Amino acid sequence: MRFNRFRAAVAVTAAVFAVTTGTVAAAQPGPGQHGTPAKHHTPPKLASESARLARAILNDKGITYAGTHDGGSDRASLPRQNLVDTANGRLAKTSPWGHKRGTRAALNAQMLNGVLKLNTQYHFKFQVSEFVGGRHTSGSKHYQGRAVDVNWINGRHVGNGAAHHALMTACHKLGANLVLGPGDPGHAKHVHCQW
Ligand SMILES: [Zn+2]
Repeated sequence: MRFNRFRAAVAVTAAVFAVTTGTVAAAQPGPGQHGTPAKHHTPPKLASESARLARAILNDKGITYAGTHDGGSDRASLPRQNLVDTANGRLAKTSPWGHKRGTRAALNAQMLNGVLKLNTQYHFKFQVSEFVGGRHTSGSKHYQGRAVDVNWINGRHVGNGAAHHALMTACHKLGANLVLGPGDPGHAKHVHCQW
């Protein structure tokens, strides 16, 4: 027992020495590689913010979700499941037939904030048809968790009397840098907002 304590004390001393040495090395002029990795150990704030926002969206009764994909069936990549995974600190799953073929992606906090505020600030009741699931153009921001598709707005389907212009304007005001909808190729029946 005494021996183990001694060994532990030696280990602590060695660790302190290592930290001290590292600090000295980082302070010396040079590429600064010693100081850089420590910053990456900080837990990514965005991840927990995304979890909080995903929970808020799931608790918002004005936001609903498509129960099927356009072009295939995979429950694990449905938009509501993307939010459940995110709320639980996991990555959201893409669909097996999309370009990313069932890999996972983080839902972006700015995008989630925009989705939440479309209801809480702009009072749209809407249905999300996809986050990272489904099939999109290769290199689409959907696969980076930075885009949302909306297919129902206030009880009307997009392309069939829905107020898509108003929702598109709201996306822009909420910071979206690309917004597409009816009139844009491939968007006759849904609005795409990406951050
Ligand atoms: Zn889209």
